[in-house]
Amino acid sequence: MKGIFTILEAALIAAGLAGAHAAQGREAGGTNPPNVIIILADDLGWGDLGCYGHPSIHTPNLDRMAAQGMRFTDFYSAGEVCTPSRAALLTGRYPIRSGMCDDKYRVLRANAAGGLPAQEVTIAQALKRSGYATACIGKWHLGNYVNDPAHSPRRHGFDYYFGLPHSNDMNPTPAAPRNATQRLDQRAEWWAAPLFRNEQLIEEPADQTTLTRRYTGEAVKFIHEHRGGPFFLYLAHTFPHVPLFASDKFKGQSRRGLYGDVVEEIDWSTGEVLEALRREGLDGNTLVFFTSDNGPWLTQNEAGGSAGPLREGKGSTWEGGMREPGIARWPGRVPAGVVTHELACTMDLFTTSLKLAGAKVPEDRIIDGVDLAPVLFGLGPSQREVFFYYRGTRLYAARKGPYKAHWITRSAYGPDSPVVHDPPLLFNLGHDAGERFDVAALHPDVVADLAAEVQRHLATVKPAKNQLEETVRGEAARKYSRD
Ligand code: MG
Repeated sequence: MKGIFTILEAALIAAGLAGAHAAQGREAGGTNPPNVIIILADDLGWGDLGCYGHPSIHTPNLDRMAAQGMRFTDFYSAGEVCTPSRAALLTGRYPIRSGMCDDKYRVLRANAAGGLPAQEVTIAQALKRSGYATACIGKWHLGNYVNDPAHSPRRHGFDYYFGLPHSNDMNPTPAAPRNATQRLDQRAEWWAAPLFRNEQLIEEPADQTTLTRRYTGEAVKFIHEHRGGPFFLYLAHTFPHVPLFASDKFKGQSRRGLYGDVVEEIDWSTGEVLEALRREGLDGNTLVFFTSDNGPWLTQNEAGGSAGPLREGKGSTWEGGMREPGIARWPGRVPAGVVTHELACTMDLFTTSLKLAGAKVPEDRIIDGVDLAPVLFGLGPSQREVFFYYRGTRLYAARKGPYKAHWITRSAYGPDSPVVHDPPLLFNLGHDAGERFDVAALHPDVVADLAAEVQRHLATVKPAKNQLEETVRGEAARKYSRD
């Protein structure tokens, strides 16, 4: 793609004209600045949507969204599992910088004492300071505010919250059988997930068959109430994370079985959100971005998704663990029907959202996200040249251009130990998306360049206090005694 731009154009973008284009974006639709909606699926794989080639999951709304906007083939989450991925998306920083990653527990447990540190700046906080109304609807998983009120989404820039504080498999009841998460004959009595509105517990156990529908209703209501804008809506679905539950309307509908039912309900939900924008006359002034927090949970068997041609899934630094569907839509601003192969990631949504809002990108800390405006508005190549793949606190791999080097590999959830590679494994992802053919011996110069990128990056990393290890103690721990 870079070939179609002249050196002069690339230089102009590097000189900051991308910012000017972003400013123009703020005026589109006659209102200023634009609304931003991020829709985040949980554990949805790169290959799980019709527009990404899935043969039996029917996703007409997301396919239409891609046709009306831009579909990314090389879009990444910056974490291989839920908690680090969400921390990175909302802060624009690799999770190692906020302490929101861990090599043993990997995600925040229900009884975790830690959470997203107060000094981190989220998209919601930055946009709220610029006059945005903000809502988080769905899964949080950046700290359990029952354990510590400081971890409420409303302490991190969100005016309104409706959803579960963590994953929907984290409150199994004694009735849950072994491997209950994999079961396709799910029963409500196996799970006791708590549903909150702001800090108030409104339902426990939450009726998980209604969650996608209720999240959607909340999202549509928020859009209506804030149609005068600007607003930031973070709609973080609970599914298709296991255990899988679909509403009666979708259950048994998909040729892909229960997993397909669940994804098709999320597709329906996206259609409802886009229809709400149309109805409120907000199409021309709203950026909507759809993606997933990590790859498919392959060890869940039929209850897990698909990474398509990519290797491995959730929990790993192979492509299937972190490369995600990425669909952007903003009629009149994002060109329609474009498939881009530019390199981009969830952290870039932080910087892009702040720039579109005219908010100041924090300068007192390292921000890893770049402004995607040149890519989104069809003006030039991505400013992202390199992407680093972390598993927990350790950097396992790095990508630059089509090449990806692995210094460490390990199966996503197996009992195997990490394998260190010296020299690293090297794959050309353009030729070999499935990472099967090591070409390190043919490209020592590429290996050396990637190694230098990693050294430069690691020199900027000062690990923060680990937020995932500590659990609540004493009286507060009693409610977790059944865990
Ligand atoms: Mg996840």
